[in-house]
Amino acid sequence: AKDNGGSQYHIYHPEMFQRVAHRVMLEGEVRQALAKQQFSLSLQPQICAKTKKLYGFEALLRWQHPDRGMISPEDFIPILENSQHMIELGYWIIRRCFELAIQLKKYGLADVRIAINLSAGQFLDINLPRFLSDLLVEFSLTAKSFELELTEQTLVKDMDHTIAMMESLKRIGFTFAIDDFGTGYSSLAYLKKMPVDVIKIDKSFIFGMLENHSDFQIITSTIAMVKNLGLIVVAEGVETQAQLRSLTENDCDIIQGYYYSKPIPEKELFLSLDKQTTGG
Ligand code: C2E
Ligand code: CA
Ligand code: CA
Ligand code: CA
Repeated sequence: AKDNGGSQYHIYHPEMFQRVAHRVMLEGEVRQALAKQQFSLSLQPQICAKTKKLYGFEALLRWQHPDRGMISPEDFIPILENSQHMIELGYWIIRRCFELAIQLKKYGLADVRIAINLSAGQFLDINLPRFLSDLLVEFSLTAKSFELELTEQTLVKDMDHTIAMMESLKRIGFTFAIDDFGTGYSSLAYLKKMPVDVIKIDKSFIFGMLENHSDFQIITSTIAMVKNLGLIVVAEGVETQAQLRSLTENDCDIIQGYYYSKPIPEKELFLSLDKQTTGG
């Protein structure tokens, strides 16, 4: 351990130290935040391009910090990645999604899927399948109510383990989406090897799709390929009617983005569903 050469040097790099310190602080705060119920989920609708029907909601984590206000998941999830705290938080997120699925059912939205984001560490946790199958029993739900979102990063981390894990969860009935598709570097390999149901084209391709010729080409050929494989294709980050029109013309299945709705805090969503069902 003494002769670590170059990497030893980096451990004492001030920036690195700051990151480690930040991480330790965050980890401590996460446990408190869980206890104090500072976490919540926002739900972003996913709409079928052709029928305009609601296909599902993506669950997105929100952290309302008492001093620092709303902290973006992008500012703490990557830091917590690979820690026990992320696994704990991840279990909280999954359980909350089950509770939300039950609530949606009460509003007659039983066929609507909840997409759950899983981080790499969470997905590689060997207790995950058992946790999920226990929850299905506890809540009397079928796995069809959920879609598990994995990023390309997760998929390449430990291919054999990942495939085995996906296959065992598929056997229980869970479906899988590949998130941020196109931002990794070996996307096509896993389409062949992995039991995937849905591909989500990353929003970075959508934003400039009508101005940037190569983004447009990438999107249309991805849609064609995904559909030829018999899978479902989702476009995320759709903000304008022009993007929506072009994606629909090019046969994209599902649309997610600010054009239809920003992620809706869970409380607000159920308040508005209440109003709809009471005709107010
Ligand atoms: P993601 O999974 O790619 O989620 C999509 C992000 O795009 C969300 O950001 C969403 O609010 C945003 N978005 C959706 N439509 C639009 C649009 O039309 N325009 C723009 N500009 N943005 C749009 P958010 O909620 O800040 O989440 C950021 C990332 O944090 C997520 O990216 C995901 O990687 C991570 N994350 C969020 N919640 C969870 C979670 O529960 N578990 C895990 N592991 N990661 C999560
Ligand atoms: Ca996602
Ligand atoms: Ca995404
Ligand atoms: Ca992303």
